[in-house]
Amino acid sequence: MPSPLKILKEQFGYEAFRHKQEEIIQTVLGGKDAFVLMPTGGGKSLCYQIPALLFGGLTVVVSPLIALMKDQVDALRLNGIAAAYLNSSLSFPEQDEIISRLKRGELKLLYIAPEKLFGSGGAFLNVLKEVGVSLFAIDEAHCVSEWGHDFRPEYLELSRLKIEFPSAPIIALTATADHITQKDVLQKLALKEPSVFVSSFNRANIHYSVVPKRESYERLSEYLSLRKEESGIIYTLSRQSSETLAEKLKEDGFSVRPYHAGLDKETRNKHQEMFQKDEINIIVATIAFGMGINKSNVRFVVHMDLPKNLESYYQETGRAGRDGLKSDALLFYGSGDVMKLKRFAEVDDNPEQTRIMLRKLGQMADFCEIRLCRRKHLLNYFGEDASDSCGSCDVCLTKYETFDGTVIAQKALSAVARLEEKFGLSYTVDFLRGSKSEKIRPAHKALKTYGAGADISREEWLRHFKDLISMGYLKQIGDQYPILAMTDKSAQALRGEEKVMMVKSESVENADTKEESYEEELFNRLKNLRAELARKENVPAYIIFSDATLLELAKYLPLSLDDMRRISGFGEVKIARYGEPFLGIISEYCREQKLESRISEKTFIRRPRRFDQKERINETKSESLRMFREGKTVSEIARKRDLAAQTIENHLAFFIATGEVKATDLVAEEKIPRIREAIGKHGNIALKPLKDELGDNYSYGEIRAVIEEMRRKEK
Ligand code: ADP
Ligand code: ZN
Repeated sequence: MPSPLKILKEQFGYEAFRHKQEEIIQTVLGGKDAFVLMPTGGGKSLCYQIPALLFGGLTVVVSPLIALMKDQVDALRLNGIAAAYLNSSLSFPEQDEIISRLKRGELKLLYIAPEKLFGSGGAFLNVLKEVGVSLFAIDEAHCVSEWGHDFRPEYLELSRLKIEFPSAPIIALTATADHITQKDVLQKLALKEPSVFVSSFNRANIHYSVVPKRESYERLSEYLSLRKEESGIIYTLSRQSSETLAEKLKEDGFSVRPYHAGLDKETRNKHQEMFQKDEINIIVATIAFGMGINKSNVRFVVHMDLPKNLESYYQETGRAGRDGLKSDALLFYGSGDVMKLKRFAEVDDNPEQTRIMLRKLGQMADFCEIRLCRRKHLLNYFGEDASDSCGSCDVCLTKYETFDGTVIAQKALSAVARLEEKFGLSYTVDFLRGSKSEKIRPAHKALKTYGAGADISREEWLRHFKDLISMGYLKQIGDQYPILAMTDKSAQALRGEEKVMMVKSESVENADTKEESYEEELFNRLKNLRAELARKENVPAYIIFSDATLLELAKYLPLSLDDMRRISGFGEVKIARYGEPFLGIISEYCREQKLESRISEKTFIRRPRRFDQKERINETKSESLRMFREGKTVSEIARKRDLAAQTIENHLAFFIATGEVKATDLVAEEKIPRIREAIGKHGNIALKPLKDELGDNYSYGEIRAVIEEMRRKEK
């Protein structure tokens, strides 16, 4: 039996497993039940698709999302895998055809809606019993639980699977389940001593930021202008605002459509499809949009209005960056939204639930207001530990300049005290600023603190108050109309026993670390080719290749099919199918621009290194070293190991660094002085300029060897 890793590489074209994929696959292959909790985009599908290919018989995938089935099946077919789906969107003859293929044993994977599985008086179950099922995968498994937010009664029937197919293992997968839901899923599905796999919910490639909701349209259009070529979702609270915003953006030249429950089904589907197929870039939607979306190249998610809780925020922002590329989550925050949402939070005749909803809303507002790493805040909310600073959210990337704000704090606190802790934020600020408004009571206008803070703008005061609240010098009481009140810490600050450090108003967000460079023009040409192929095959473009794959092509410029094997996303079937047309575009571009392939700059494994991967790399390097010591040449080793010569050279360069191999073992002695000379001129950071200078007689491997040796001697 081939190894899961071999299948991953050859059929799917990926280099290494992510998260706990490998362990999960081994568990399932061992015939055990498994429960998998992994964030969106984490790679749940491979956890059952790879076992499906390794098992003899059929794998049945139960999914509630009819819209997604076709996508999944198309994606598998493009990788040369026999898969089909069965749901109510197919005509009866089409369904019959699939059942015939099932009976002939032609399918490895069958996607099915739960009602189809158990419908027609169990007739279909009997078909499955006849053909035999090796594995059941239950996608969106939280739907079986009434505690989950997306309960589907037809999922309850799945408890019969264990009875009807006692020997087939079940793998249940979901991206959303708290503890209660998780326990419920295990129980409802009657899993037998399941192994439970919980991955971190951190979406490392998403950059979070929150900006004040002011001139938000101008800010938004500025933001979008910088992302003209990218796909994104903009969420609004109401249908009306989704409609008007889409209209306005369209007038301003953006490629955009609205999506909300008020549109008829046909229009909705059309807009969703246009978005999926990259015919438009932006969808302006209410939360009605998203469940059926697995478009992997969504580069940004913008919230024009506050989501009602952090669960929704996490889920909606999670639709960005499923392909693992850097993506953006931007939220416009104004406290007015909190007021607005409070009205919605009230559940008639259910004070308990109202209280929970209001608390969740408050936590959402805290997320926006408190100066804490956004990622940490989110992860802690979901019960996960996180480091204090993630380095890729607005809070972490902003340099906050602090100053001694004791006097300001004292003014604020004494205002609250003078107003006898009976007033809210807005009133208190107006009072401090000496507002002439009639709103301020005459008695208050006579107080000494009235107008004591006139030198500071209203906005700045609001921020100072938020900071004082988050530092614990003040608190807000009440859910509906919160009033400001003192805390245990207030007195110390008032008496001046404690210095209060505050944040200056204009803080600058540091420039984000720049993405590695790639050939932009080529990337666009590759996208065009992809779009053309997608149209021909009538599938969304990202199913042919993800943006991540195209980006690698535009970065490493593979010029042969062998080079292409090293690009993530090119499995054997896709190489055979699409290799040539893509190579054609790349070589044409390289000829025009006089560029060479940069495939040798691609390191063996790109993903963040984890222990097991490191071990694997070391193993493969040591193998090359062993053969080299036996007296084999680089090209002999390459042939024997079925790897590129450049890969072997890279392996050996590693051992030059450790001193186990000498540069002269790899490079003819007379070549070394010229290489050193070139290094003297261009430095030893980038290989490309060195190679350009030295020309065809010198290989990348030789250059690296000399660099490594020079570095070693410098140490
Ligand atoms: P989920 O169902 O958990 O939201 P998917 O299974 O759709 O996620 O996977 C998200 C994307 O990541 C897909 O494009 C998938 O092909 C890709 N992917 C999954 N596992 C890997 C891996 N080990 N290496 C590279 N890409 C992967
Ligand atoms: Zn952060």
